[in-house]
Amino acid sequence: MASIRLNNIVKRYGVFTGVEKMSLDIEDEEFLVLLGPSGCGKTTTMRMIAGLDTPTEGSIVIGDEIVDDVDARDRDVAMVFQSYALYPNMSVYENIRFPLRMRGVPAKDQDGLIRRAASMVELEHLLERKPGALSGGQRQRAALARAVVRKPQVFLMDEPLSNLDAKLRASMRVQIKHLQRQLKITTIYVTHDQIEAMTLADRIVIMDKGIIQQIGTPDQIYSNPANVFVAGFIGGPPMNLVEGQAEGGVFTAPGVTVPCPPHVRGKVTAGFRPEDCQIPGTDVVGTVFGVEPTGDMTYLTLDVGGRHIEIKAPRTFRSPIDAAVGVAVDPGHLHFFGLDGRRIERAE
Ligand code: ATP
Repeated sequence: MASIRLNNIVKRYGVFTGVEKMSLDIEDEEFLVLLGPSGCGKTTTMRMIAGLDTPTEGSIVIGDEIVDDVDARDRDVAMVFQSYALYPNMSVYENIRFPLRMRGVPAKDQDGLIRRAASMVELEHLLERKPGALSGGQRQRAALARAVVRKPQVFLMDEPLSNLDAKLRASMRVQIKHLQRQLKITTIYVTHDQIEAMTLADRIVIMDKGIIQQIGTPDQIYSNPANVFVAGFIGGPPMNLVEGQAEGGVFTAPGVTVPCPPHVRGKVTAGFRPEDCQIPGTDVVGTVFGVEPTGDMTYLTLDVGGRHIEIKAPRTFRSPIDAAVGVAVDPGHLHFFGLDGRRIERAE
């Protein structure tokens, strides 16, 4: 168990910068999620923490130790990746045992540790099978058991669930969170899936183009996105973002008229989440582009002044396309962003 500190980490590939001056303090026992679109630098960051890549600049501290010159195998981190990387010729039992043998754990202690790790992920009954005879979810659980069998200081997980179907992903998600709470091991988890980030994280770090955009708890990031990138990344569907004009406490754009704080002026972007809208209303007026019932709610896509606005409508909402619909937006959940894309805070 350990805290982790990244001090101004930079990773350059020739003239291209993969990660730009990244500083981050991860607390002991924290579950931290690195979230961002493909190519934003998540895996690169993870590989530098693991010791598989060397930062071009900056330094990394794990626990009390500066690990810049410490080999990957001596960093006491356990990794779980998207590809399960189990040894195909070894049984599940032997796969889980492997890190114990590598670390020289006495043979008499190994069996108990292996069975305990397997039972944590409910694999006790499959220990004799080879990976080829397991389902994707079982293979992923075997990889997890192999990571947890010895208590490392740090877990690094890079998109460990992305090969699984949606249902299995959801059940493995809760299993990973439970395991992390149980073992109390500092964990860094990489994903491009905002639902995974929101559900798993104590704190989320959102990255774009190698640069941290915001660090916060899931609630902070959902309620107070720091900029339009974060606003447009979190939420399913994400926040509606509309460019328009603010003057005298009113924001207007084609089909949109909402109140705004008096200090919000000029060319700005207004943001509101699909779940903060109600039908009927007069704040947003458009025509129906699509209606998608999901059972527990209905996704409504409106054409508003030539742009699409997403609304979460009641489960019973139905409408023909092109029908006129007016929507009310909860004024307490309106967000405004300046020309530079940054959130405009409420005046004190
Ligand atoms: P994904 O979700 O697709 O895995 P990521 O956020 O993990 O994306 P990284 O793998 O960290 O992204 O890559 C960050 C950037 O660095 C990308 O633009 C990538 O093309 C670039 N990059 C990564 N490794 C190298 C390399 N060895 N040489 C040159 N560029 C690289």
